Amino acid sequence: MREEVLDKSNKNFMRRIKEKNPTYFDELRKGQHPDYFVLSCSDSRVSPTAITDMPLGRMFVHRNIANQVRRDDDSFTAGLYYGLKHLEVKKIIIEGHTFCGGVIAAWHGNEEEHLKPWLNHIRDSLPEKEEGNCLSEEELARINVIRQVENLKTHPVFKQYGEGVDVIGCLFHVESGEIEWLETDDERRL
Ligand SMILES: [Zn+2]
Repeated sequence: MREEVLDKSNKNFMRRIKEKNPTYFDELRKGQHPDYFVLSCSDSRVSPTAITDMPLGRMFVHRNIANQVRRDDDSFTAGLYYGLKHLEVKKIIIEGHTFCGGVIAAWHGNEEEHLKPWLNHIRDSLPEKEEGNCLSEEELARINVIRQVENLKTHPVFKQYGEGVDVIGCLFHVESGEIEWLETDDERRL
């Protein structure tokens, strides 16, 4: 079975690249040396390579709903380990975004069976409601990213293999296309 829309755009993609550089895919098959490990939300509007105009081979990407760092997530942990130990990435980027449905659903306590366990993880990164009633959805998304940066820095795999690797949080603004670079509490204190 063939998906016509994707098949057509894939052929366009191949043609465009080969016109510019006929040996492009011969180079690509030799291996990957990405500079960045990126943890992004799964949201279809926030593809990390698309919003930064990065070509293939520059970003090693892990995605989940609301860009969560979890020690007990085997998929994330394996990706982080592989990125640090074998690909020797130079920087880790944690990319959240405005209008994040995961953050909003966690904040409002969505009870759907297949969402709830993951939303509970997201909820753990948000402030208590009593203190945070006046927080905007944008501010909650920002707090979530900053918390994931902290979680990453204390992740056992990062502690073992991440020496000298910067961890940078950012918020992609869906409404403008701009990336806002976030400061963690550690950086603010400096
Ligand atoms: Zn999201």
